[in-house]
Amino acid sequence: MQTLTLSAPAKINYLLDVIGKRPDGYHDLRMIMQRVNLCDDITLTLTDTPGVNVTCSSKVVPDGPGNIAWKAARAMLDLAGSDNGVNIKIIKNIPVAAGLGGGSSDAASVLMGMNELLKLGLTEQQLIETGRKLGADVPFFIFKKTALAEGIGEKLSPLPGMPKCWILLVNPAVHVSTAWVYRSLQLTNGRELNKLPEFFESIESVVSILSNDLETVTIPAFPVITDIKERLINLGAAGSLMSGSGPTVFGVFKSFEVAEAARHEVSKETNWFTATVETL
Ligand code: ATP
Repeated sequence: MQTLTLSAPAKINYLLDVIGKRPDGYHDLRMIMQRVNLCDDITLTLTDTPGVNVTCSSKVVPDGPGNIAWKAARAMLDLAGSDNGVNIKIIKNIPVAAGLGGGSSDAASVLMGMNELLKLGLTEQQLIETGRKLGADVPFFIFKKTALAEGIGEKLSPLPGMPKCWILLVNPAVHVSTAWVYRSLQLTNGRELNKLPEFFESIESVVSILSNDLETVTIPAFPVITDIKERLINLGAAGSLMSGSGPTVFGVFKSFEVAEAARHEVSKETNWFTATVETL
């Protein structure tokens, strides 16, 4: 039996501009995303019997075909025309429905892992095409670089030279549905997009672009997000923002010690999920 162990990292959005709604219901976006070293652990075991089995450590994530990792594995077995099956074990460390892209990252890891296990030899571009059908953030995790993502998230350009930062993640345990956020968003037609720096040579230049259009929907419903953003700045963050459709807020820190001290303060007052992570 062939087994592969994979780490599926979370992401944060430094920038999320919603440009417009497309006829297919998706939105055209302009995002800057980076991966961080908070990872789900995934084990893939190829089996001689057909079928995909998923077991997931989180009670709020479905085990079977409802799991995006299941869909990714099924897509690869079908592409290979294989009679094999696969057992997928997922240990969720990334908070679920949190704006951290956990499901998309799991799916991307499964696509890349199955490509290896089945010796399919698909190129990165072919995997991105397959991933795009599973979810808008899947291509970014296959790309594996800090990126400017456009279109629905599948047009990816690398952003080399991003400085290393320490990121404090704070997830207030409120439930935010991504579909609801996009449905509720009021688009401003024909607005000018902010100009982006050509190079991100310092943490200051990273912090200068922090902006997320989805805050206009999520924050009025959950004002605690603003409280956390302000708290992180008061605790020494160079900048803070909600990631994706939320509710996770992140602070950008220059030093691990200051980020950890801030994490301690936040954890003293609440039982929220917090983690100090490093950008990848
Ligand atoms: P994004 O930032 O891409 O919007 P997210 O972090 O907000 O993603 P996910 O954690 O990917 O959201 O989960 C969204 C939904 O997908 C949840 O309702 C969850 O039940 C479902 N789901 C299916 N498979 C998975 C998986 N492997 N991991 C997490 N959620 C999954």
